[in-house]
Amino acid sequence: MVSKRSKNVLLDENGNDPNSVLIVCAHSDDQIFGPGGTIAKYAKEGKKVHTIIFSYGELSLPLQQKEYTIKARVKEAKDVDKYLGGYGVTFLGLEETKFSAQFNQKKMYPKLKRLILEYKPSIIFTHSIDDPMPDHRSLHKLLLETIDRMRYKCDVYMFDVWNLFNFKKRHYVKIVVDISDTFQMKIKALKMFTSQKHSLVMLMWSVYLRAWYSGSDIKVKHAETFYKIR
Ligand SMILES: [Zn+2]
Repeated sequence: MVSKRSKNVLLDENGNDPNSVLIVCAHSDDQIFGPGGTIAKYAKEGKKVHTIIFSYGELSLPLQQKEYTIKARVKEAKDVDKYLGGYGVTFLGLEETKFSAQFNQKKMYPKLKRLILEYKPSIIFTHSIDDPMPDHRSLHKLLLETIDRMRYKCDVYMFDVWNLFNFKKRHYVKIVVDISDTFQMKIKALKMFTSQKHSLVMLMWSVYLRAWYSGSDIKVKHAETFYKIR
């Protein structure tokens, strides 16, 4: 249902832009491991996909200079976003393992609120509530607290990065997105994170397996599964 018009954008019944999609994740590359194929698919359909990344992932390369790592990871994320047709990546610059404390200290609520109000997403994708990685769960909590505090109404879906098959989430409503046409873009995008080469090689098999497993759910070659939390 379309009700309002603002700056030539038709808004939905919640006052959001029906073509605006937001991804919120902890580290650069989570957005590709999770909804990478969906980002490319939506971009091809003309949707505006913005990405917000909480940390620079500076702990990922402990032997290298912090500044060098940050620069490399920001550039990779921006190049990948461009390749997939995204509308830009914003880094909040929080330190890994310290999201909860720094979210308040660094006054992230108004910053995140401002970005959400600017993008007006009708769908937000973020980490699962039961992700094994503490940063991912912490981000999930902070994001939901933010949109609830804002009383922002939109669909929020969770994606998995590490969990292979999530039987615990059976009771959630899920959507399965056919990414057969963009799966190769997802693979190429992952390979573009050259600073993460080592861990990527180890995880690549799980990307294939999950895409195949999700695909078998709706009888297509490759898919991504998301669970509705709002
Ligand atoms: Zn992560």
